[in-house]
Amino acid sequence: MEPTATDPVMGIDLGTTNSLIAIADASGPRILARESGTDLVPSVVRYGPEGVEAVGRSAADALRDHPERTVYSFKRFMGRTLADRETEAEAASYRVVEGPRGLAVVDVAGRTRTPQEISADLLRHLKEEASAILGVDVRRAVVTVPAYFDDAQRQATRDAGRLAGLEVLRILNEPTAAALAYGIGGGRKAETIVVFDLGGGTFDVTVLEVMPPESEDEESIFRVLSTAGDSRLGGDDFDRVLVRDLDEELRGSDLEGIDLAHRRALLRVVGERAKIALGESDATRLVVDGAGLLPDVDRMLTREGFEADAKPLVDRTLELCAAAIRDAGIEASAIDRVVLVGGSTRMPMIRQAVETWFGRPAYSALDPDRVVAMGAAVQGAILSGVRRDALLLDVVPLSLGLETAGGAVAKLVMKNTTVPVRATEMFSTSVDGQMNVALHVLQGEREMAEHCRSLARFELRGLPPMPAGIPQIEVEFQVDANGVLGVEAVERRSGRRARVQVVPSHGLTREEVDRIEEESFEHAREDMLVHRVVDLAVNAALDVKWIGEALSRVREELEASIVERVESCMVEVRGLIDASREDPRKVDAEAFHAAKERLDRESVPVHEAAIARSLRDSPPEGGPGGSTAGS
Ligand code: AMP
Repeated sequence: MEPTATDPVMGIDLGTTNSLIAIADASGPRILARESGTDLVPSVVRYGPEGVEAVGRSAADALRDHPERTVYSFKRFMGRTLADRETEAEAASYRVVEGPRGLAVVDVAGRTRTPQEISADLLRHLKEEASAILGVDVRRAVVTVPAYFDDAQRQATRDAGRLAGLEVLRILNEPTAAALAYGIGGGRKAETIVVFDLGGGTFDVTVLEVMPPESEDEESIFRVLSTAGDSRLGGDDFDRVLVRDLDEELRGSDLEGIDLAHRRALLRVVGERAKIALGESDATRLVVDGAGLLPDVDRMLTREGFEADAKPLVDRTLELCAAAIRDAGIEASAIDRVVLVGGSTRMPMIRQAVETWFGRPAYSALDPDRVVAMGAAVQGAILSGVRRDALLLDVVPLSLGLETAGGAVAKLVMKNTTVPVRATEMFSTSVDGQMNVALHVLQGEREMAEHCRSLARFELRGLPPMPAGIPQIEVEFQVDANGVLGVEAVERRSGRRARVQVVPSHGLTREEVDRIEEESFEHAREDMLVHRVVDLAVNAALDVKWIGEALSRVREELEASIVERVESCMVEVRGLIDASREDPRKVDAEAFHAAKERLDRESVPVHEAAIARSLRDSPPEGGPGGSTAGS
């Protein structure tokens, strides 16, 4: 029986701004959406005389037209009194009033509604979405809440679920969900985890302790040791840093009849765009065609400048981390893992600061906006009887490797290796003066990249220009005890580095692993020969290039017959390189190997002459490294 197929438990991230639904099965957690790009459901509900008029995206998009009937950010009022939330109530475009026991309620479209009722209307919408996507009636859910929610707020969330016709199997802390999404807590020893959550408007840091289950059929226990945060620190503040001076200019300018708030919101959009661009490149152009609404701007922004200006914000998050750790009564060195949550943790400066401060790589493989919903789904699957270790094995189920020049795969971690495991290999470039190297991480047993599963692509950028084959790029694969893979590439001379993190087991079922294995047996011999030809072609191309260069320098010093033999070998090898680029299956590996050997043999006098020549031209100075030219 497949429990998830008939009576699935969905995970719901019930957010202040956006909500998400996810489901998990033996192939891991995944976000549910009718079509790509629509998975984030704005936590917004519009009411009319008949009741609910719109929920989610459609309600959010029409907010401006119906400000007093559209309710957003209602999570802030869950289980709180009006006195507690006066500032928020005043800022809202809808009416928040005092209800029974002083609790905050919303007066909308002719009647008062509790935040629970409004949440229920959103949850009902999510339930219907999930049921439509999965084609079954989804009735059970795990719903997440912030770790700092008190009993009243948790109870309010539970009530909302009940009103929506959902059986809420568990109210789960958001940071715990994030940890579960990474498979944390499946181990056999107690661990301390920090969850660093930087969203659009808020920052939360939580210290969790996870205790392993005492027996096979029990669950791990997650306990919150401490929380700290700032409800007015988030990505928006980083946007503001980039447009601070423009904002000041606006305030001073006098544009009649145009709402200042509207103009500042526009400016913020410009700032956010620049912020995201600076996460991907070292500089970006900030262009504003103000059209009378904003000052016209055209200027270059650099990542370096941005990071310097935003440093106080980053420092503030680290201070709060220190406070949380102090409150937990532990030392920073006792932290075993750090998990990143929230869209703003995509900023390289945040990740670097966190990793440096904690002295360890942070978990960032999963989408930081979706990791909480995915973890809620994992909890749902555990509760509905899908075993958490269905694929979280103690071994790497399929080999992990990197695409090499020519499209072959260099395997670094072989299948069935026990985790944790670490492996490194040296790579180089295949083109002269290459400054960027594309790295493609693959999973599978076949020999060619096109037959493997693509896990991630990333780039090592800004290498100093060097001849092909000279840069030394060390690539390290590291799979931790939860099966999370970190890949890091470092160019030795410049120290340039880049890295990615992925969860290779997500989206992979046992059946798929078996199928991939079978396929690799079927194609084993053919694959091996193709791989050999491709590698030969890459190496031979470098040989031909070096020999050609050396030959042009020393041609006059060599006997004509030698030159002739070398050139005829080069023609033959070039032909084979071209043929293997066209279709490596049609090239005989043995013949190619023999031709390459012949070229290597015949070209020995060329190399000798070239070395003698370079020694004559620039006598060695006696130190090591003085005679590398031409090697
Ligand atoms: P959240 O509330 O977790 O959805 O986070 C939203 C915040 O993440 C906003 O401030 C976004 O500007 C920010 N954000 C989203 N993507 C990126 C990115 N690629 N780089 C920097 N910030 C981002």
